[in-house]
Amino acid sequence: MTVDVHAHTSYSDGSGIPLMVDAAEAAGLDAVGFTDHCSLSEAWRDERLLWNRNFDRTYARRRTALSIVADRTDLAIYDAVEMDYEPGLEAAIDEFLDEAGFDYAIGSVHYVAGKQVFPFESFADASDAERRAFVDDYYDAVVSLVESELFDVLAHADLVENHPALRGLTTAAHRDRVAAACAASRTVPEINAGRAGDRGEFDLFHPTDPLVEAFRDRGVRFVVGTDSHDPADFADRVPRLERYLEETGIEPLGMAEVANDGVTGRSGASEAGPSEAS
Ligand SMILES: [Zn+2]
Ligand SMILES: [Zn+2]
Repeated sequence: MTVDVHAHTSYSDGSGIPLMVDAAEAAGLDAVGFTDHCSLSEAWRDERLLWNRNFDRTYARRRTALSIVADRTDLAIYDAVEMDYEPGLEAAIDEFLDEAGFDYAIGSVHYVAGKQVFPFESFADASDAERRAFVDDYYDAVVSLVESELFDVLAHADLVENHPALRGLTTAAHRDRVAAACAASRTVPEINAGRAGDRGEFDLFHPTDPLVEAFRDRGVRFVVGTDSHDPADFADRVPRLERYLEETGIEPLGMAEVANDGVTGRSGASEAGPSEAS
């Protein structure tokens, strides 16, 4: 594994850029894309301020910072974004992505109809029917994210499977819809290691195995992301992902398939493509 399409910096909920770059390089990566959280949701206006999710106002500063750090490293650095997707926000997202001109954009469903997937406590009082309805709505949103064609990458496609109250509610029909949508779209699903680690029963990759199978049945390819927030995440997750790719035989796509040229304009990352997955 030489390419990581998903990592955060202090421009959202990650760590300082120089620390993240050094750690990514030390983990053996050739290319990393920084994908800070960005939400355009009006419903979360206050939360966006409280949690530093105003990347739509700060991306230009991060871009300058990335160009500075790019001169200090051999890593190929990509200037990207993890956008919150919400049905109905397509026009606003389209306009923003157009204006910002990132190397690529990841789309994520972190909340549905104003309700966040996490934290774990969030569904404690919900009935079975309410949980099922939420999971249905979640996959409706994932499918419309893909069908919107706004994004290069679909993040952690079955995020709800990592929630104790929602796990197991993903059906074969949900998986089939998501896989079919990706098969017909430019949007590539991500193998996401953000929840892999020493977390007992919550140690998993997204997508979980049944959804990976549904994608593979339809010939859908993947990109790979550590979803690192702390520098130490790279050292932990890169080897985990390498083992995972070896075990599954998945050969991920390189940056060339999802991204523009990158901050340095180097195409080195694109050459570090599928065949170097191990
Ligand atoms: Zn995410
Ligand atoms: Zn992320």
